[in-house]
Amino acid sequence: MAAIDYTDRRRMRLDVEFYFAAAHRLPRYDGPCFRMHGHNYKFFVALEGDVDPATGMIADFGEVKRIVLEHVLARVDHRTLNDVLENPTAENIARWIWEVLQPHVPGLCEVRLYEIPDSCVTYRGPGGR
Ligand SMILES: [Zn+2]
Repeated sequence: MAAIDYTDRRRMRLDVEFYFAAAHRLPRYDGPCFRMHGHNYKFFVALEGDVDPATGMIADFGEVKRIVLEHVLARVDHRTLNDVLENPTAENIARWIWEVLQPHVPGLCEVRLYEIPDSCVTYRGPGGR
């Protein structure tokens, strides 16, 4: 049997998962989260694109990881998120991650951030739904 070699371009989505630990407090929240506390955050960075027939890839997983490490994780892991955002809600953190990555990640289509294991927010950019 001949080996399969896909020479046409097919659109696909690629997701990479990341983790960081950080402290924050929500200055506008009337409840326990007003006080300084910490979370083990998890987020997914997703990009969409056509699979390059030459490489068989949309993007290099390792390159996505390098960009996220440099531009996001280096600025938030084991840090206080209020030093980055005045009101670091999950929604604002997801948006910040998008805005930091967008110039560096072609095809960026979604950031999904988990503040606790069963609750997340999803941001698909300014025109996203
Ligand atoms: Zn919190």
